[in-house]
Amino acid sequence: MRTVNAYAAPAATEPLIKTTIERRDVGPKDIMIDIAYAGICHSDIHTVRGEWGQIAYPQVVGHEIVGYVTEVGSEVTKHKVGDRVGVGCMVNSCGECEYCLRGDEQYCAEGNVGTYASVDSADGTVTQGGYSQAVVVTEDFVLRVPENLDFSKVAPLLCAGITTYSPLRHWGAGPGTKVAVVGMGGLGHMAVKIAHAMGTEVTVLSQTMSKEEDGRRLGADNYYATSDADTFTTLANSFDLIINTVSAKLDMGAYLGLLRVDGTLVNVGAPAEPLPVQVFSLIPFRRNFAGSAIGGIRETQEMLDFCAEHGIVPETELISADSINDAYERVLKSDVRYRFVIDAATFA
Ligand SMILES: [Zn+2]
Ligand SMILES: [Zn+2]
Repeated sequence: MRTVNAYAAPAATEPLIKTTIERRDVGPKDIMIDIAYAGICHSDIHTVRGEWGQIAYPQVVGHEIVGYVTEVGSEVTKHKVGDRVGVGCMVNSCGECEYCLRGDEQYCAEGNVGTYASVDSADGTVTQGGYSQAVVVTEDFVLRVPENLDFSKVAPLLCAGITTYSPLRHWGAGPGTKVAVVGMGGLGHMAVKIAHAMGTEVTVLSQTMSKEEDGRRLGADNYYATSDADTFTTLANSFDLIINTVSAKLDMGAYLGLLRVDGTLVNVGAPAEPLPVQVFSLIPFRRNFAGSAIGGIRETQEMLDFCAEHGIVPETELISADSINDAYERVLKSDVRYRFVIDAATFA
């Protein structure tokens, strides 16, 4: 076992504090990663505050992790010491069900093992995430980070990047299609960049016009305020795909009305309360109301390679570990453009 520094939540209602945690010994298929940077995802906050269900404390979160391989097990073939690697939202799965076999480990029939707050199939402990100096992960869940991607900015691709890339790919975003992105936050800004690089026409639907300049700089062709009722008449029946990144209760009927025949509204943001849908907003245009969770390991690697090819990295603000609690408050106020990344050197 190796003891490493980390920032953990001691309870649902308390700020994160500096502590130490144990990482397991490197097994035959394991990789030890010295973490260089870790992104802050809204899910981290929901999880440590118990908003998505009770968890065990203390809990270290963080599932946007990049770092360097420092040790590999005897049977490891995919990575070697010194490699730049990443770990996203899951660290294991059964590997045998139909979904795992086809590369959709995120939908594993047994449930995937989350990077934090899950029971680790390797040793039965509760998984502890990336707000720490090092992590041990089985090689199949470790991604290769292309050399040309700025290492200090790339971490959010491991959650925000793949969460938006996967539905864009699945529902065929590309030249000749029209995609709307609802919300210009951590997920939304990645959806804009990636959709633009895929060659689709991108429209941002944001509460106000305050981030229009950013949206257009990141690749949006059009930008509309959802606070303006005219937006919903102007854009009626016009999109093939809507990526909803907002984790709050929106009027789904209004957004579904923006879809063309066979269009799909896919939710990647997750509000705690139900989103009521009037079936008559689906039937007349054979519209689809969907959800999507991260992406499989093969697709996550494909996303990293796609971002390398197109020079895409998230827009980030680098912080030190002692600013995590302040950063949480700013995430909750949407006061970040567009993702916080923790410099893991400051866990020392
Ligand atoms: Zn996340
Ligand atoms: Zn499985």
